[in-house]
Formats: sequence, C-alpha cells, structure tokens
Amino acid sequence: MNDVTQLNPIRVSEVIAPTTLDEIVAAIRTHPGPISIGGGRYSMGGQTATDGALQIDMRAFNRVIRLDAVSQEITVQAGITWRAVQEYIDPHDLSVAIMQSYDNFTVGGSLSVNVHGGYTGLGPIVLSVKSLRLVLADGSVVSASPEENRELFYGVIGGYGALAVIVEATLKLTDNVRVEEHTEVMALSAYQEFFAKNIAGHADVIFHNADLFPDAYRSVRAIWYVKTDKPLTVKDRLIPTDADYSGNRRVVKVVSDWPGGKWMRQHLVDPWVYRKSAVEWRNYEASYDVRELEPASRKSSTFVLQEYFVPVSRFSDFVPRMAEVLQRHHVNVVNVSIRHSRPDPGTLLAWARSEVFAFVIYYKQGTSAAAQSEVKSWTRELIDVALSENGSFYLPYQIAATDEQFRAAYPRAGEFFALKKRVDPQNKFRNRLWDAYYRPEAVSATGRH
Ligand SMILES: Cc1cc2nc3c(=O)[nH]c(=O)nc-3n(C[C@H](O)[C@H](O)[C@H](O)COP(=O)(O)OP(=O)(O)OC[C@H]3O[C@@H](n4cnc5c(N)ncnc54)[C@H](O)[C@@H]3O)c2cc1C
Repeated sequence: MNDVTQLNPIRVSEVIAPTTLDEIVAAIRTHPGPISIGGGRYSMGGQTATDGALQIDMRAFNRVIRLDAVSQEITVQAGITWRAVQEYIDPHDLSVAIMQSYDNFTVGGSLSVNVHGGYTGLGPIVLSVKSLRLVLADGSVVSASPEENRELFYGVIGGYGALAVIVEATLKLTDNVRVEEHTEVMALSAYQEFFAKNIAGHADVIFHNADLFPDAYRSVRAIWYVKTDKPLTVKDRLIPTDADYSGNRRVVKVVSDWPGGKWMRQHLVDPWVYRKSAVEWRNYEASYDVRELEPASRKSSTFVLQEYFVPVSRFSDFVPRMAEVLQRHHVNVVNVSIRHSRPDPGTLLAWARSEVFAFVIYYKQGTSAAAQSEVKSWTRELIDVALSENGSFYLPYQIAATDEQFRAAYPRAGEFFALKKRVDPQNKFRNRLWDAYYRPEAVSATGRH
C-alpha cells in the first residue's frame, strides 16, 4: 500500500474489496490479525494500513441506497465517492451540504476524518450527518446517530477507522444553486474585518476562502461565491471528468520551482485567472478532481498538505508566527488557504473545539530521509505554535506530532481510547495513526491513559 504522497509504503498481508455487508462482517469475524480500512487513500500518513494487516478496501461498496429529494437526504454505502454522489443528485437539483474541495474522496474516509470544505457558516462534516450504520470489531451491525448510540456516533466521526467500519451513512443535502464568484486582494491586516463584514452571517455566501501569498505572508486574495439568479457563464453542471488540468499543473510548477515563481503567481497569474467573474452551479464548484494538483513525478520530491486551526481571536497572533517558522526553514510553500469553521458539535477528536480559522498549507518537499526528517522538525514547531494559540492540527496528514502534542491538540483522546478499548478490546482496527498514539495497555476504564 502507499498513499498519494508516495512517502508511506506499507506491506499489508491482503486486500479485499467487498461488495456486500455479509463479506465485511465475515472478514471482521474471521480475520485473526489486524484490520485496516481504506477509502480513497488520500490521507498522507499511513492512516489506511499497518504492517501485515488485512485491508478492507471500501471502494467497491459504493451504492446509493435511498434518495429522498423532498426531505433532502441521501443514504449511501460508505465506499462511494463524492463524485458518484454528485452525479446521482445533480439531476434533482441537490448538492452535498459539506465535503472537501475535491470530489475524489469516499464518504467513509471523509466521515472518519470529519472533513470540512470552504462552505460558509458551516464546519466539520458531522454537522451534516443524520445517522450511520457500523460494523463493530465483533461483527455486530449497529446504527448510530446523535440520538442512538451517541458515543459511537461522535467517536466514529473523526475516528480514523479505530472503532468500526462505517458501512452506510445518511447525509443531509441542500439546494444546488447558481453562484457568482467574487474576489479581492487585501493586506492580511484587513482580512478579519473584511470577513466579519462580508462573509460571516451572510447566508447567500456559499463558499469562501482566502489565499495567503507565500513567501511574505502579508497579503491575501479573498474569494467568495454568492448565490445569484444571473445567467450562467459556465454551462457544465459538473466539471467533466476528462477536464484538462494541465494549465493548473503548470502554475504549481512555476510557483514551486521557478525563481520568482511565487511573485509571478501573485502579480501575474492570479490577476489573469480572476480577471472575469464566473457564474456557475454550486455542484460545478464542488467537483474539482485532485488530478488538478498531480505533478509529473513524485520520485525525488512530492507535494504534501498540512492544516492548523486556531480560535478566531488568535488569527493575527498566529499568522506571523506561522510565517516565521515557514520562512526560517525555507519551506517551499505553494499556497496557504484560509477557511473558517463553526465549533464541532461533540466529536471526541474534534479539531474545531471553538470557532476557528483553518490554515491549509500546500508545500513541496524532498523524499529523501534527510528531507523527511527536516519536515518533521518544522512541523513540530508549527504544531507548538498552534497549540500555544490554543489551536490544533489536522490528523489526515503526515504523522509528525509527539504523543504530548497529540494529547494537547485532542484533549478528549483519553475518552476516545477508553471507548476503543471497550468496543475493540483486541485492537483489531489498526493503522499507522493509531499505532503511533494508542497504547491499549495504558488505557483504564475511566479513560485515563
Ligand atoms: C489534494 C487533497 C485535498 C484535500 N482537501 C481537503 C479539504 O478540503 N478538506 C478536508 O477536510 N480534507 C482535505 N483533504 C484530506 C482528505 O479529506 C482526507 O485525506 C480524507 O480521508 C480522504 O478521504 P479518503 O476516502 O481518501 O480516505 P482514506 O485516506 O482512504 O481514509 C482516511 C481514514 O478513514 C478511515 N476509513 C476510510 N473509510 C472508512 C470506513 N468506511 N469506515 C471506517 N473508517 C474508514 C481509514 O482507515 C483512514 O483512517 C485533502 C486531501 C488531499 C490529498
């Protein structure tokens, strides 16, 4: 197994791709060793595998079970991708309420990470989940929702495959509306006021993010999409699956490889890209393919994501400190995307413990052992900066945090691990993330660790 970064080769013993619930239950009941769960495999630190495991590849378990277009709800098998969901619901003028900014990911992988996108007034995907169906480590099949098996619901969402296999999910949908793109470049110091005035509380603003320009990190381009009745300038309802992303890839290459490339992007490329304001469907804007970012090779260098979250009130303290670490270590940052999130309603491993701004860092790194070790050291510095601002860091990326940092960012990990010990006493469900932080022998029934 490997993931999209190609940095985490893991030798598993077997991979199965079940198409029925019975096959999943039978595999869990009968397999004697560790079991890992794979969705789209876009996590970047071995979260879908561990050495010698049986990997359940969920991607063939991918049917739509029920769509209720009137109450705007869909029930799907967890291995389905957002793209397949979009293709199914688009003819009904419906949209996914919360997902990432690309549509290649599976629903199960997204729930297990508790993902978020650039949707305004929203936050983690848990806010859009009605209920789940799970297969536990003993092979039993149970339902979970905020009303039923509540602890499992709030543990499994954001639980990175530690507690159960998610086999079905019922998600709330929303209207597929037309949106008009707006954009404005401003000093970083003006951004929070801009956000408060133009984005926060505006129900007609559907998507928003702000790109913080490297390497100075002193100005941003805010981009927002407002609901509109204007005629479409983009006729496609979804981005065609064979769309040509070569232009975007060239831009990433210029920004990451050329001397002056970051300046060119900010002052020449972006003004050209954003010269006209598009009117398009919401589903169109939510259907980008990760191919957009794929470099020609990941052999000697690769592109990786990281994400940090800080309370809204710490925004202006955090950014210069983050910038200082990135500059001092000469990190080859392609982009930092700023987003906003409401607080998490109760998942045990919540990354939004309060209302937060998120900083998504997309950067290029070498693949050598020395390069990986250098990344680990500046990542730990950045985590410390986020923690000292009462913030957190995101878990689907490379596993660099010390045990102490993990505990500080996820203070309810003790409760999560106690739940794991109860529902998975043999530690069947394993992967590199939990191999790093879960010590079953150290968990007591009270959740102390
Ligand atoms: C280019 C790119 C852009 C991204 N953008 C965003 C973004 O905008 N917002 C955001 O929040 N994240 C983003 N991410 C991170 C991404 O959301 C996560 O990596 C997510 O897990 C990907 O889904 P997946 O289906 O590939 O999951 P996988 O990587 O396959 O799995 C992730 C975790 O979920 C577990 N899992 C998978 N399926 C199940 C299941 N059915 N039951 C139980 N556990 C399961 C796995 O064991 C693993 O621990 C991005 C990643 C990339 C590479």
